[in-house]
Amino acid sequence: MAAIAEISGLYKFFDTGGVSTPVLNEVDFQVETGEFVCIMGPSGSGKSTLLHMISGLDAPSGGTVALQGQDLRPMSEHRRTVTRRRTIGYVFQFFNLVPNLTVLENVGLPLAIQGRRPRSRRKQVLELLERFGLSDRVRHFPHQLSAGQMQRVALVRALVGEQPLLLCDEPTGNLSQSAGLEVMQALRQVCDQEGRSILLVTHNPRDATFADRILFLVDGHLDEEHELRGPGLGVERVHEALLELGI
Ligand code: ADP
Ligand code: MG
Repeated sequence: MAAIAEISGLYKFFDTGGVSTPVLNEVDFQVETGEFVCIMGPSGSGKSTLLHMISGLDAPSGGTVALQGQDLRPMSEHRRTVTRRRTIGYVFQFFNLVPNLTVLENVGLPLAIQGRRPRSRRKQVLELLERFGLSDRVRHFPHQLSAGQMQRVALVRALVGEQPLLLCDEPTGNLSQSAGLEVMQALRQVCDQEGRSILLVTHNPRDATFADRILFLVDGHLDEEHELRGPGLGVERVHEALLELGI
């Protein structure tokens, strides 16, 4: 199967006050079509930075990102944006819902951007909201929802455009244990039932066990020796690897 995302020799430095700080150092990996990959690393290890590079929201200092075999680097800004919208759905730790839009309007936003008419958007959005247990919340505004509900709305918004790759940046970071578990189960279901690819970054060992494969980001580099593969990844094995890596 073709890789949905291929990351080769990725470097990232940030310049702050004339000092160049390396964040990512020679990162190589790929996400296969239909695969659920998790990257674990402590806070500040560069997980969000990595997702920004993969989505083309920020440019790497070196190396390449290819989405569905297309290298992002030589693309014009416009073409990169079009490629991102077509390929990637994004779920953030802080939900990033638009506060003055209802659930229905928030979820319909990606389709509106694609130029789809309100009537055809409505049916698809309502079906997805029902599937994620949000049917009775369509007219609510984000502040009227629990954190778990907000994240499920954000997940539906990331799914509605039917992009093949879902990038999830600490999606349970602001949720209770049980709400987080529901979101993780929903992600696993999306991968199993629809064959979408998922790249999750997290420092939560329980969340990592939902993936097919776990990679560890240590000092800006992916530690190949400690890569874990499912199915049936137990949380003990994840803790063991973290302990061995000292992270
Ligand atoms: P994580 O998501 O794993 O917590 P980040 O990717 O947010 O980590 O950050 C990795 C490192 O890069 C941190 O040390 C952070 O301070 C630094 N960093 C992130 N974005 C910028 C930026 N725009 N300018 C300078 N430094 C940054
Ligand atoms: Mg982060």
